[in-house]
Formats: sequence, C-alpha cells, structure tokens
Amino acid sequence: MRLGCIADDFTGATDVANNLVRAGMRVVQTIGVPKDAADIDADAVVVALKSRTTPGAQAVAESVQASEWLRRLNPSAQIYFKYCSTFDSTSKGNIGPVTEALMNALGTTFTIATPAFPNNGRSVFKGHLFVGDVLLSESSMRHHPLTPMTDANLVRVLQAQCERRVGLVDHRVVRQGPDAIKQRFGQIEQEGVSIAIVDAIDNEDLLALGAATADMALVTAGSGLAMGLPAQWGFAPNASAQRLPIPGGAQAILAGSCSAATQRQIRAFIDAGGAALALDPVQLAQAKDPVAEVLAWTQLRLAKGERVMVYSTADVESVKAVQARLGAQVAGELVERTLGAAAQGLVQCGVRQLIVAGGETSGACVQALGIDRMQIGPQIDPGVPWCYAHSPAASEDGMHLALKSGNFGSDDFFIKAFEMLNDEASV
Ligand code: ADP
Repeated sequence: MRLGCIADDFTGATDVANNLVRAGMRVVQTIGVPKDAADIDADAVVVALKSRTTPGAQAVAESVQASEWLRRLNPSAQIYFKYCSTFDSTSKGNIGPVTEALMNALGTTFTIATPAFPNNGRSVFKGHLFVGDVLLSESSMRHHPLTPMTDANLVRVLQAQCERRVGLVDHRVVRQGPDAIKQRFGQIEQEGVSIAIVDAIDNEDLLALGAATADMALVTAGSGLAMGLPAQWGFAPNASAQRLPIPGGAQAILAGSCSAATQRQIRAFIDAGGAALALDPVQLAQAKDPVAEVLAWTQLRLAKGERVMVYSTADVESVKAVQARLGAQVAGELVERTLGAAAQGLVQCGVRQLIVAGGETSGACVQALGIDRMQIGPQIDPGVPWCYAHSPAASEDGMHLALKSGNFGSDDFFIKAFEMLNDEASV
C-alpha cells in the first residue's frame, strides 16, 4: 500500500479512486474508517468520510483517525487529503483545520493545496480558481446552500481557515518543472509558509506537481493530482489494475436521483424496452408494505431473466408537488429508505450487478447492503467506475456495483454499463 487517501465525501472518494486506477494502481475504497486493518491487498486505499460539512471538530477527529488507520497499513505511505475541485468549504473549514490536524498527526511542516482538475474544467492560476471560463466566485458555486464560494483567491480562502501561513507557487514556477517547484517549496518554507497553493492549468502541470510531491508525507488536493502521482512510484496504466472478478447474477438499477442527466438515462432505458417501475413518494407514504410490492414486481421480471429498474426519478414540477405534500426531508428519506430496502431485497433475490443513481441514494443503498469496502474497477464514464464488493445480503458471493452521482454519465449509461461489464469479462 503506497498511498492512503482520505476523501471528504462518498462520490469524491470514488472520483479519486477512479483516477488512481486509471494511472495503474489497484485501489480499495472503504466506507468510513474500518474497525480492523485486516487483509487489504491494494496499492492505494481510499477512506470515504462524510466530513465536508460536518462540525469542524468531528471532521478533524475522523480524518486523523483515518490517517492513523492508513499509516498502520504502511507507516511510510503518503497521505492524500482529497476535497472537492471547487474547494467546497466555509470560512471556518473544514479544509484548513483538517489539513493542519493531519500535518500535526504526521509530524510534517510543509504541504500543498490544489483543487485543480483541468479535465473537469477546474484550473488554478495565480492562486485563483476557475470553473470553466469563470472565476469560482462567479460560478454557480457562489449560491451553494451549504458551502457558498464567494472568493476565488484560494490563498485568502485557505488562510482564513488556517493558523499556519498559506503561500503560493505560481504558474511561472510550475511550468519550469518538478525541480523548480521543489526549490520554490524550500524557499517559501524558509520564509515561513507551511501550506502552498499551487497553480495548475493543464495535465502537464499536474504531472510536474506529482513529481515534485511524491516524497511528501502529506498532500492535499482535488482528484486531479491523483493523475500525476502513481507514475512517480513506478505505476503505469495497465489493464490488471482495474480487473474485477467475473460478473454473474441478475442485473438491476435503482434510481433516486432527479437530475436532468438521470431523467434522460431513464427515458433511454425505457425507450429501449427496459422493464421499469416508477415509485411515487405519496403512494409510498400510504402503502402498507411498499418494499414488498416493489419486490413482488421485480421478482416476476427477474424470474423471466429480465433486467429491472426501480426509480423515483421525476421532473422538477412533480418533485415540488410531492415536497409540498410530504415535506422535502420526509419525501427524500422515504425514497432513500425504500430504495435501500429494495437493494437489500434484490440482492437477496440473486441480483449481483447493481447500478444506483444518486449520491445520497447510493449512500443509502450501500448502507442497507452493509458494504464496508469496495474494489475499484474500470471507468464507465468519467467519475463512475464499476466496483466489486461483498454484502451480507449476497451471502458468500461478491457483487458488482456502479454508484452514479446524479449528473454523471451519458444518456445510454445504464445499458452501456452492463454491456461493458459483461463484455470485459468475456475478453
Ligand atoms: P443526486 O446525485 O442527483 O443529487 P441524490 O440521491 O443525492 O441524487 O438526491 C436525490 C434526493 O431526492 C434523495 O434524497 C431522494 O430520496 C430524493 N427524491 C428522489 N425522488 C424523489 C421524488 N420523486 N420526490 C421527492 N424527492 C425525491
């Protein structure tokens, strides 16, 4: 195990794991900090936390606990604190406090911070974060309900969250390559800087930064830096890093995302003749045993060898109408609980290839399935890999899972994902 990542949310963990796998590392992702440090065979381990918006003290404690657990797997592993490429945080944190707590825990005096991920339109220039062609503070992130980002100057943003001094390694230095970057790190550390925001506007910059930071005890970044690090430790893209066990069993899709992309993907699945059951939250609230009804419907189709879909996905107007009747929170929880229980029932009935659409929905399903770790496999679409996991609901079998954040994936995602998984297995 060469690299231990601590991700501040679930889909962010899968995102960084996906980049590491593509760069040739075998990656296991754990859900939270596991109780034991047993039998993990991987080049990198990603611990998925939910620490982006939790109270600072809790985020710090969980992150330090994760780093201690990772360091038990390998005391000299590099620790990579992964946050969002839009630097999602409040004026108090949690990026700054977690970074400083990890520096203390690891006994290191210098680290970097860069959310740059040019492939996804996130670039940092002169310390300012751009989202596509606009500054972070002019992007839709300025209206985010929990972490509104109203300042694009990352030195200023991070400094407000930190006790240590924050500085900048700007693009003039980065483009000169790894040696120049390292030299600059040394200079600014002498000047009293402990955390350097580093500019990166394209993949070449991230590769140079990877070479300059491969020996650091701690790096902090979005998922972009994960493209540049593995090569420094001798990893190269290869098919075996992403190979998962051969898939089997029945196929199912559960969708609780109401995003535009998921709506299109569901339409495409139904248009292609797929068997799909729509859930209406108002009816769910009135039904005696909604999960039993769902499973009765799916069992009939599964028995005929069909792949099944169950979805609560609806357009904006319908969601608003439901929320007006039930309340947004109640409606959301009801759907998540139903789809989670459906996931468990489907797997008990023999489903071993499951796609879940929606970030919160994925969390609910993974929890209901009692999954505590996943092996990361090949990418279906950017940010969404196939994974392999064990669930008590599948007794001794393993199962394949794809957890799709709402807005990710092409319109034909569902059919393409199953085809890809089963085609790869037959090669
Ligand atoms: P995304 O990744 O698109 O944000 P999530 O699963 O994270 O998807 O969030 C979608 C939320 O909307 C969940 O809490 C889900 O339970 C809720 N939801 C799903 N369908 C409906 C619906 N028809 N009416 C109201 N809320 C819904």
